[in-house]
Amino acid sequence: MTEKTLEVTPRTADLDDETFLRSVLGELIDDLLSVSHRIHERPETRFQEYFAADLLSTALKDAGFTVDAGIADLDTSFRAEASFGEGGPTLAFICEYDALEKIGHGCGHNIIAAVGLGGALLTKRLLEQDGMLPGRIVVIGTPGEEGGGGKSYMVEAGCFDDLDAALMIHPGGENLSAMSTLGRVALTFEFTGKAAHAAVNPEFGINALDASILTMNAIGLLRQQLPTSARVHAVIEDGGDVPNIIPERSLIRAFVRAPDTGTLLNDLVPRIINCARGAALATGCTVSIDLPTPAYAALNSNPVLGRMIEDNFARIGRKTVPLLTEAFPGSTDMGNVSQVIPVIHPNVEIQPGINMHSHEATEVAGGPNGDKAVLDGALLLALTAAQLFRSESLLTEVKQAFRPGLRIPAQINNLESLRGLM
Ligand SMILES: [Zn+2]
Ligand SMILES: [Zn+2]
Repeated sequence: MTEKTLEVTPRTADLDDETFLRSVLGELIDDLLSVSHRIHERPETRFQEYFAADLLSTALKDAGFTVDAGIADLDTSFRAEASFGEGGPTLAFICEYDALEKIGHGCGHNIIAAVGLGGALLTKRLLEQDGMLPGRIVVIGTPGEEGGGGKSYMVEAGCFDDLDAALMIHPGGENLSAMSTLGRVALTFEFTGKAAHAAVNPEFGINALDASILTMNAIGLLRQQLPTSARVHAVIEDGGDVPNIIPERSLIRAFVRAPDTGTLLNDLVPRIINCARGAALATGCTVSIDLPTPAYAALNSNPVLGRMIEDNFARIGRKTVPLLTEAFPGSTDMGNVSQVIPVIHPNVEIQPGINMHSHEATEVAGGPNGDKAVLDGALLLALTAAQLFRSESLLTEVKQAFRPGLRIPAQINNLESLRGLM
């Protein structure tokens, strides 16, 4: 039998919860670190995370959650749920678990996965122990964050619509309770020209590599007129094969980012596209423009959740850095979720100032500092969830602070559909 807690003031209740959650965390250490290590040792890139999704789903099933695998037509997604009583909040822990090509878990998503699992297991034990707190605990497994925009498809499928709030944590170079990020659009420009003998009759050729080079130069010149908060970065993925044939094909892959999703879609992306169109015109090539992956919306952190995380960082003994005055210049598909429900996406430090997406970060994410981030992160999110389950007024405050944004369709694969958003 579980023991009912006393009727107490919220603060005392929090402290009681903290003591309880810390003691449960002590029991779960081996399990949570094993999940983090096993995912770390077996890095799977976007939408190939079969091992990680299965590992997390199995752990949740074993703990009494009902699990739906492969939601939103994504094989490696899942949704787990545990309900208590009638009504109450529905709070979600978000897991990411994809790795980077060649680098492995240099973004530390093994930590995100174990934190999401740990937060849910701790919170479930608290609700079981309390016996009086109604609500639903949900865990959503979101694949393909690194470039695949898994959450974008899941937003479109309505996977987050019944949630009151979603919590996750990301490892990084500092403890940061809340942040905004840049929206991001991925573009490809494929130029088609005409092959010719580069020495004997180059005049018969149309040089597709020239179109790519002109595009890169046009983007470079455009930077002077772009807001400093914008980011444009591109590679020429195909620039021809051999010097003695005029290249008939070239391909640029570019990312365009800005803090405001509207500015990104309405202004920046069309200007970058015009660079490619101008280059095609100048060289006589044709250009095919594609948006190969879902757009990432800018992340809007819920300010009330941010304050709660800030307080709870102090409670677990981690010192935070001041909130950033500008958007963090990266992007996450959690941004798309933040347009439809209140979310928080804090950073937990694994090494001061660490360079993420590096071999060094991969090593740290699987080492003792990564382990500490798993345990602290799980406690941090569980404390926050406990406060939301206990306080209806706090949850109301969270919802009142939420500003719905743009639901970007997952498939924006041509300019027409992009214009449809404007
Ligand atoms: Zn990353
Ligand atoms: Zn990441």
